[in-house]
Amino acid sequence: MSRIRRGYEARFRALLRQARARRLDQGVEWLVGQARDLSAREGIALAEGLARVYERSAARRTAPKVNTDPLPIRFFCDSGLGGLARWLRAAGYEAAWRPHIADDELLRQARTLPATILTTDGMLMERRLLRDGIIPSFWLPPTLSIRQQLALVFREFGLTLREPRCMSCGGELRPASKEALRDRIPPRTYRWRDDYFVCRRCDKLFWHGTHWQRIVSTLTGVEAGH
Ligand SMILES: [Zn+2]
Repeated sequence: MSRIRRGYEARFRALLRQARARRLDQGVEWLVGQARDLSAREGIALAEGLARVYERSAARRTAPKVNTDPLPIRFFCDSGLGGLARWLRAAGYEAAWRPHIADDELLRQARTLPATILTTDGMLMERRLLRDGIIPSFWLPPTLSIRQQLALVFREFGLTLREPRCMSCGGELRPASKEALRDRIPPRTYRWRDDYFVCRRCDKLFWHGTHWQRIVSTLTGVEAGH
């Protein structure tokens, strides 16, 4: 529980910072207190109370929820969020991910890119660079499915679907001629499909098959909020 509480404390802190609140520590304490009261009053788990207080406070945020940031938004997923990174790429966003990366290295790379860190680690959120908002970051509860993670990130950052990127490496996809790729396409696919794409970065081949349809319908559902 304390890890989850830490994660929400980090989110409360970020919200308060966005709202240009002064005494951040007291503000965070007050919001945690609200969650505690709510959980006692309604007989729900503290995690649920924290989630609701966050939703309520985030809804009051004055900034529009559509992402109007002129800088391209880029994410760095912690080592436990490889699945989320793949889905963010399919949704058209750059999402770096390295398996078994050490925390210091993650912070260093995210700062250099620069990228927003996505993590389920409440302890990581207490690192000074994240706590003070020097590296932007967002904490996700460790209990969510990948689809729920994706929906949460879409809502939090006001994302809309973009042109898909390579799910393996996040590179841009370029349309490629079917003829030139003949040896690389399975013969049955070659007969039925005409549109092919190749990743500019890792050269992986993609086409719009049934797997693709599933990806698109999942992403469309997430974007629509269900
Ligand atoms: Zn690639």
